[in-house]
Amino acid sequence: MADLVRPARRGLMLILSSPSGAGKSTLTRTLSQKETNLDLSVSVTTRLKRPSEIHGVHYHFIDRPAFDTLRERDELLEWAEVHGNGYGTPRKPVEDALKAGRDVLFDIDYQGTQQILEKAREDVVAIFILPPSMAELRSRLVRRAEDAPEVIAKRLDNARDEIARWSVYDYVIINDDLGAAYESVRAILTAERLKRSRAVGMSEFVAGLLSEAIS
Ligand code: ADP
Ligand code: 5GP
Repeated sequence: MADLVRPARRGLMLILSSPSGAGKSTLTRTLSQKETNLDLSVSVTTRLKRPSEIHGVHYHFIDRPAFDTLRERDELLEWAEVHGNGYGTPRKPVEDALKAGRDVLFDIDYQGTQQILEKAREDVVAIFILPPSMAELRSRLVRRAEDAPEVIAKRLDNARDEIARWSVYDYVIINDDLGAAYESVRAILTAERLKRSRAVGMSEFVAGLLSEAIS
C-alpha cells in the first residue's frame, strides 16, 4: 500500500509585544536565530537608528514621506504611531512567507497586534511580555544605553498604557529570567504549530488510516 500523504500546515503569525525594555527584541532575536521555518518580519520606522542597529536587519529606517507613501499604497499590513514615530509592517514578505507555509515572527505594539487580529484572528498567536517590576523596566532601559534620557523617560511614561493592554493577548509571560521566558515562548510556538485547526489535509490522512487493512 502507498504511504499516506502527511498533513501540511498553514503558516502562523507569532506576535511578541511588550512595553519598551521588557525584553521582546532580545527574545525575538534569539527565536529567529534558533528556530527554523520562522521568518522575522522587518518593520519600517521613521525613528532614528540606534548605534547597534543595522538598516534592513533590525528595521528599514525611512523618512516620513516614504512612510506616508507606503501607507497610501496599502503596502503595510498594519501601522501605528509609537512614541512619536511611525512604525509599520511591510505586507508582501509576510504574505509570501505564509503562502509558502512558513511562520512569521513580529515584534510590534498592541495597536499593530489589534489590526492583525482583526484581519486574521485564526492565524495569529499573540504573546505579551511583562517586566518583573517597573523599577527593573527602568533599569533595563538605562542599562541598554541606546536611548537618550528624554527618550527613556517617554518610553517609561508610555509603559503603563501599554501594560494596560495585556488582555488583548493570548499568552502573558513575565520576563524575569531570560532563559525561562525564552523556553515559555518556544513551548507556546511548538504547541500552536501542532493545533488541529492549522493542519491541512488531516481529514484525508485520518480517512486513509481508517481504510488501511491491518494484516
Ligand atoms: P524591548 O525590545 O522590549 O524594548 P530589549 O530586548 O531591548 O527590550 O531589552 C531591554 C534590555 O534588557 C536589553 O539590554 C536586554 O539585554 C535586557 N534584558 C532583556 N531580558 C532581560 C532579563 N530577563 N534580565 C535582565 N536583562 C534583560
Ligand atoms: P523600538 O523603537 O523600541 O524598536 O520599538 C518601539 C515599539 O514599536 C515597540 O513596542 C515595538 O514592538 C513597536 N513596533 C516595532 N515595529 C512595529 C511595527 O511595524 N508596527 C507596530 N504597530 N509597532 C511596531
